[in-house]
Parts: sequence; C-alpha cells; structure tokens
Amino acid sequence: MLIGLSSIFFPHDDVETSVRNIADLGADCVEVNCDLPHFSPGPIGEEKKKRLGDILKKSKLASSVHSSFFELNLGSGYPELRELSCSRVKECIDLASLWGSSPIVIHPGYLPSFEAKLREEAKKRFMESLETLLAYAQKRGAELVLENIQSPYFFGFEFAEMFSICQELNLPFCLDIGHAYIMQGICGNSDREYEIARGIDKFSPFLSHIHIHDNHGVRDEHLGVGEGSINFPPIVEAIRGVGFEGKVIGEGWEGARDAAYELRKLRDLFNPG
Ligand SMILES: [Zn+2]
Repeated sequence: MLIGLSSIFFPHDDVETSVRNIADLGADCVEVNCDLPHFSPGPIGEEKKKRLGDILKKSKLASSVHSSFFELNLGSGYPELRELSCSRVKECIDLASLWGSSPIVIHPGYLPSFEAKLREEAKKRFMESLETLLAYAQKRGAELVLENIQSPYFFGFEFAEMFSICQELNLPFCLDIGHAYIMQGICGNSDREYEIARGIDKFSPFLSHIHIHDNHGVRDEHLGVGEGSINFPPIVEAIRGVGFEGKVIGEGWEGARDAAYELRKLRDLFNPG
C-alpha cells in the first residue's frame, strides 16, 4: 500500500512546486489533479507535460492522475459536451502514459433530475462513454478507475449501483471514503462506517484506489482526517483486511492544518504502532 497526497494540497503554488513539495515530505505517491487550479480548461501545453514528467521522474514518487471533471459530464445529452468530456479523459490517459502514472481516476456521468426515463437514457450514454474510454485505456496499457460521488445525481452513487457498473464493464473502483460517508447518511444508514466496511468487502475484487478525507456527514467538506466525524479505524481495518495494495490518496485539503501533518496522520492510521 502506498500513501500519498493530491497535488491540490498546494493550491496556491503551481503544480510543479506542489509535486516537489509532496516529494520533499516523503510521501510514497502523488495524485496529479488535472483540473483547476493547476490546469486550466484549455489544452495542456507540451512544455508543461514534459516539465512535470521530468519532475515526477526525478522525485521517484509513484503517481496517479485525476482526470479533469469540473463542468464535464460523460453522460451529457449534449453530444458536444459528451465528446469534450471524453476527449479530456483521453488526454489524461495520454498524460498518464507519458508520465508512467496509474491509475487514472474518473468521475461518473450525472443527470440533475430523478425522472426515471431521463436517467435511464443518460446512464446509457454514460455507459457508452465508459466503454469507449476503457477501450482507449486498454490499448495504452492504462488503468481507469471510477470514483463514487456524494450526490445522488451521479450514476453509481449507491454502492449497489456502482458495483453493478464495475461488474458489467470489469472496471476497477476508486473508493472515496468521504463521499461514501455522506452517501450512507443520505441513504438513511445509521452505522455508516459499518456499511462502508461491508462495501469494501464486497468490492474487494474491484477495489484499486482510495481517496481519503473527512466531513461531518452532510457537506463534502474535504477536511483533514480527524477534523470531521468519520470514525476511520473500522474502515481502515476493512481495507487492510482485503489485502489492498494500491494507492491511498489524502484529499483533505480544506481544513487540513498542513500537508506534513496530514501525511503523518494517514501513516499513523494505516500503520499503527
Ligand atoms: Zn475523491
């Protein structure tokens, strides 16, 4: 298991400095978040790609890539927007191949309505996007992982639906613990940690990547571990119990006192004593 931080931990520095800072802290890995504030919506310049690749190589950090997601939607009814969303993920897959990063995290498509027929159509579009992207990634030997999001508008919001998507497409899963905690509350489950731990057991053949941050159960606060109300030990025990060997990425950039402190807390949590 590798423990690291998202490049978002240093939102006021450029992404090169952020990666260097995370390497200096002694993290095992970094997740390069290919969206604002470090990456603007336009094309990613060749110079920037190369510079960052050199820094990653020199730092000897293992790395993963978080694909662009702001304002994008892999299930959009607008063909141009769906096309743009897919092409941005493909660009991130290419970046990951260039940098030797794995996996590439993507967000599910969504529809801001609960009307059944409309949702069914949007989900079909999303599944088609996924198939295209999986084929693109496979050709390049890259691993795509699908992350759970805390809003019920997103496909795969509940573990049962996410599990069926992963199973249908043989698609690896990125468990976002903070998002799952909010989801369990919305679903009315009182022992949220127990439900997440049960989900980890069920997902174990697909569980490939982990995002970890804290909140108070309602808003996606992205707090540092221990700053919200999540009781992490039973969840961590389940992760260790299934023999997870992937990357654990701290995403608690809001309210995290500092990156060094956050990394230390993550190490203590996953390797007690
Ligand atoms: Zn996340």
